[in-house]
Amino acid sequence: MKSLSEIRESVLRVVERSDTPINVRTIADHLAPRPNLSTIYRALDHLEKRELVQSVAFFDGTRFYYAGGRDAHFILCGECHEIRKFEQCTAHTIRENLEREFDYHLTGHVLYFRGVCADCRMVLDKKARFR
Ligand SMILES: [Zn+2]
Ligand SMILES: [Zn+2]
Repeated sequence: MKSLSEIRESVLRVVERSDTPINVRTIADHLAPRPNLSTIYRALDHLEKRELVQSVAFFDGTRFYYAGGRDAHFILCGECHEIRKFEQCTAHTIRENLEREFDYHLTGHVLYFRGVCADCRMVLDKKARFR
């Protein structure tokens, strides 16, 4: 049995290595021996409080975890639930305006677009054609 801090460390490594936000079940799949989900939730809770990981809920409310900066940008496919990251962002202009308007000091943002990816569009087009 691994110690709590070892589990936290391996959970953090899995989140850091993932190219896309990752949910608890997928994190568990990457860990051997596989800890139970509540242990992972507790580790994530700890890491999130220390701002080593952040999380966002997509789709049916499933929480996804990611490491790195306070600003996060995602593009999601509503059909296959693929999640990809993107970098380009012009939110700093909006942020300055919001800080002025609401007198807030803003520390981060999450921006995501949902839609349908190319593969799913192809499948949907075929279905529509043969209906
Ligand atoms: Zn898709
Ligand atoms: Zn941004």
